[in-house]
Amino acid sequence: MPHTIRLINATLYTPEHTAATEITFRDGRIVAIGERPDIEADATYDAQNAIVTPGLIDSLVHGGGGAATMDASHDSVYRIAESHARFGTTAICCGLSAAPMDYLTKVVDAIGEVAQNPSDTGSRVLGVYVEGKFGTPSKRGAHAKEHLGKPTVEAFKTLWKASRETIRIFSYAIEEDGGLELTRHLAERQDEYRNVVPTMGHTNADYDLACRAIDAGIRRATHTLNAMTPMHHRNLGVAEATLDDPRVFAEIIGDGLHVHPTWARLIMRLKGSGNAALITDALFAAALSSDQVSTTFERDEASSSLVTREGRRVFLRDGALFLPDGTLAGSRITLNDAVRNAVAWGASVEDAVRLSTQSPARNLSLSRKGELRPGYDADIAVFDADWNPLAVFVEGREIVNCLPRLS
Ligand SMILES: [Zn+2]
Repeated sequence: MPHTIRLINATLYTPEHTAATEITFRDGRIVAIGERPDIEADATYDAQNAIVTPGLIDSLVHGGGGAATMDASHDSVYRIAESHARFGTTAICCGLSAAPMDYLTKVVDAIGEVAQNPSDTGSRVLGVYVEGKFGTPSKRGAHAKEHLGKPTVEAFKTLWKASRETIRIFSYAIEEDGGLELTRHLAERQDEYRNVVPTMGHTNADYDLACRAIDAGIRRATHTLNAMTPMHHRNLGVAEATLDDPRVFAEIIGDGLHVHPTWARLIMRLKGSGNAALITDALFAAALSSDQVSTTFERDEASSSLVTREGRRVFLRDGALFLPDGTLAGSRITLNDAVRNAVAWGASVEDAVRLSTQSPARNLSLSRKGELRPGYDADIAVFDADWNPLAVFVEGREIVNCLPRLS
């Protein structure tokens, strides 16, 4: 594979739209934006005026390509990373579901192993997103009640060690026993825990407690409005605190089902594109074509449900997965779908790109990702006008490339 690659005739978003039309990268890093005839390229591709963005960063995926993080297998994590990369996502955090602690330690070990040993063919696995396990029963969503646990410092430390210190986001119900103590613990030890983000999620806390938790160090809200205290004009809760307080970074599941497009638009407007991120919350059935779904899963014709390899029954409807009782269980989208949706809902392309690149990178303290800038990782996605990937590079490695080669 050539060392130095150049894309020309590119419409660059970095994340501001720039008049420059060329980007050159070498050995995994961006070396130049704009025309640089002094740097010889080994290969030059014509982007044909397509949209070129930093690789998308999906902070929360549970699966993809038929594999699930909860398989507790590094092969599954590699498969998830490969499946999302084909759609322009160049970095992911792998989310958990509620399960017994001894099983979760195996799950986070597999994710940590892949985070430490990236493949050449997939998205960079940034680490673990712990969620669900430490939710409150009334806001557990699709997570099994019997496997919920308390968000204690001890529980965090167990998973931190088992994950090989790769937990990036730790989410919990702040009202559960240990929640505030854990928040203070994480906030005081940001160096030791590599800027892990203390996050509130699957929570039914009231507004006063949410404010106290934010004062104590909460900096992010898991899938805003989903599995959260319902909004009310007098009795406020976590949602209002998230929307109001600039210290809290808000996630938006961008499938148009988990959050109504009007609410997605309001969250984007209230938080600003610099303080929110689009996520997929993607399950195993994401990043698969309809044909692949039917060959990967057993279909129960009588109920039009799909039976997973684990024997779990799920329903596929409008790009999302539902449990038999109607609970939304996660999405089937990839992050390019969320970007397309955000633009359709009224976001500018600049804002939609920022929400899926620079903003999550900054919240996760990724110093070389999320922007097209010399010195940054060559995480680059090229999209057609409908946000379908034409080319994807992860740290300079070609994952997809349909662009014509000029030299
Ligand atoms: Zn969740």
